[in-house]
Amino acid sequence: MSLQASGMWDCNCIEPQWPADELLMKYQYISDFFIALAYFSIPLELIYFVKKSAVFPYRWVLVQFGAFIVLCGATHLINLWTFNTHTRTVAVVMTTAKVLTAAVSCATALMLVHIIPDLLSVKTRELFLKNKAAELDREMGLIRTQEETGRHVRMLTHEIRSTLDRHTILKTTLVELGRTLALEECALWMPTRTGLELQLSYTLRHQNPVGFTVPIQLPVINQVFTTNHAVKISPNCPVARLRPLAGKYMPGEVVAVRVPLLHLSNFQINDWPELSTKRYALMVLMLPSDSARQWHVHELELVEVVADQVAVALSHAAILEESMRARDLLMEQNIALDLARREAETAICARNDFLAVMNHEMRTPMHAIIALSSLLQETELRPEQRLMVETILKSSSLLATLINDVLDLSRLEDGSLQLDIRTFNLHALLREALNLIKPIASVKKLFISLNLAPDLPEYAVGDDKRLIQVILNVVGNAVKFSKEGSISITASVAKSDSLRDPRSPDFFPVLSDNHFYLRVQVKDSGSGINPQDIPKIFTKFTQIQSMSARNSGGSGLGLAICQRFVNRMDGHIWIESEGLGKGCTAIFIVKLGIPRSLNESKPPFVPKAPANHGQTNFPGLKVLIMDDNGVSGMVSKGLLVHLGCDVMTVSSADECLRIVSEEHKVVFMDVPGIDSYEVAIHIREKFTNHYKRPLIVALTGNTDRVTKENCMRFGMDGVIMKPVSVDKLRSVLLELLEDGVLFEAK
Ligand code: ADP
Repeated sequence: MSLQASGMWDCNCIEPQWPADELLMKYQYISDFFIALAYFSIPLELIYFVKKSAVFPYRWVLVQFGAFIVLCGATHLINLWTFNTHTRTVAVVMTTAKVLTAAVSCATALMLVHIIPDLLSVKTRELFLKNKAAELDREMGLIRTQEETGRHVRMLTHEIRSTLDRHTILKTTLVELGRTLALEECALWMPTRTGLELQLSYTLRHQNPVGFTVPIQLPVINQVFTTNHAVKISPNCPVARLRPLAGKYMPGEVVAVRVPLLHLSNFQINDWPELSTKRYALMVLMLPSDSARQWHVHELELVEVVADQVAVALSHAAILEESMRARDLLMEQNIALDLARREAETAICARNDFLAVMNHEMRTPMHAIIALSSLLQETELRPEQRLMVETILKSSSLLATLINDVLDLSRLEDGSLQLDIRTFNLHALLREALNLIKPIASVKKLFISLNLAPDLPEYAVGDDKRLIQVILNVVGNAVKFSKEGSISITASVAKSDSLRDPRSPDFFPVLSDNHFYLRVQVKDSGSGINPQDIPKIFTKFTQIQSMSARNSGGSGLGLAICQRFVNRMDGHIWIESEGLGKGCTAIFIVKLGIPRSLNESKPPFVPKAPANHGQTNFPGLKVLIMDDNGVSGMVSKGLLVHLGCDVMTVSSADECLRIVSEEHKVVFMDVPGIDSYEVAIHIREKFTNHYKRPLIVALTGNTDRVTKENCMRFGMDGVIMKPVSVDKLRSVLLELLEDGVLFEAK
């Protein structure tokens, strides 16, 4: 409106002149002034509007419009100075137009002033709200996307973590990712054993991807491996070429992300490399081909989070696999150990059976040899014959000792040897040992002495048989390895300060009111031992001065057995020597009990010396022998006949029970033999009067505890161990007849 008006009036000066009407001119003049004023005010109002309006998108248009209006205003202002002569009609038209223009312009300007606040308050708000709504929409979209991503990640994580099997984890990851992101293909490239290549190991669509490898040094792989973000890669690069390219096939967008293989150094399965440095697998994800779809930021974020979760799940799986492998290994070892244990137990059983059989079987012929040669020895013999018989006796005695030692050792080693604990006279036992060894020492012209400390208890609780065996062995060695000089035996109570010995750190003496530690020291002036040989002498079958030791009739078992006995008695044994030719001191400590009162304890057992009964015989003593072994029965009979007994031999239980009468003072029976235990029971039943019943005595080659216990249980009065010499039989028979009971212990 104002534009046209301004166009019309600006170039209108060639009309014929007419006398200016004063009034018209005045109106035009005033109108021009107001038009200009209105024009100038509009830009100011617009500037105010734009400034106040928080959101107004067309600022530059406003500037342009403002400039245009200012120029229009300026035209009108300049017009004030161009009032020349015109035709009256023109002047009237122009005046009308100018007046109308002035009125409309001013009205517009006034209207603008009026509506701007309205515009500001309504339009601005509307716009503002629109913008805000759009912004909120955008944010909501973002939040929803994030929530969606989170949900997917949680689902994926749950699926992935629900198993701890490596293959299931990787397969699940691909399947879940493929479903969540609607992928065309998803694949996992794993490093090969060499670490120089990546091998296609899992894919979504191909069930059995085989043998595809790419060098790990490819720039695209390096690019992915250097960042923990998902990277868009070319669909044509080797790791993305998972589908055959055919025709006008348009591959979809592809991203790749690294999957850290944590703890991979522990993986040693199949094609998994054994690497100490951090390594990655490569996950490649492909959008559907022939689609315009592109990767969104939130999808890439999801891929990255999933890759991290897969890494964690894999590390857990690795730890589990490792522990499963360790468990399997342990189980295998346990099975092998169990097998070995069972084999060892079978071997021990077999050895024990063998020993038991051999023990019995060897003792029987040994019994015959010793018994018969001892009988032979008491007949008229030529000197050379006597020498031969003596040698036979000596050798068979040695053999018998050896059998005992081997048996002891095997029982000590398999733990089946039990100590026979009872109260005994310690002083008597030590003197007994001295008496036993004295004859041999006197033959060698060795002076032997025994010193008992004043505080040494007279009675003690322990296994007296094994204790005397140890003492005899140690003193026997002193006699054996000394050619001249003296041997002193000292027995005392070990004081707490002398108990600990640095050579034996495993020996922990515990002092109590009910026990004491017996210390026995055997000092000789014999051949002595090289100090460096001392540790070896407790090893079985070890003899240091082999020749002299063997000549002296040893087997290298004595000290080994002593050490085990002493250990069983909570003690320890050691040898001191300053060197060859400088004598030797053997010391041992054993724990013994102190009897609470002598009345309480069993009657003290005093080992009896094989008393020199001279020719003590038993003329006319009626004895019955039950033995189904002809040789054995004949040997026993020969011994007893030699002792003057009136002997009858039977070879069956029935015969024995039929014949046995009050006249028989002793019934000897071979154990375990023909129903010997039943016969014992029947004899006891037959003779209700205890004083008229013959003594029932087992003659056995079995040295085990069970045989002895059975003999006692079935009411026998004594057990005599084979082999038996004339002297031994004489002394045990005497003892038996005196005491009415005799249970010989091995
Ligand atoms: P052996 O039955 O052969 O005597 P031991 O086990 O009793 O076996 O002794 C092992 C070895 O220790 C002997 O062969 C001997 O060399 C040495 N030995 C033991 N006691 C003495 C000692 N008192 N004097 C010298 N050497 C000894």
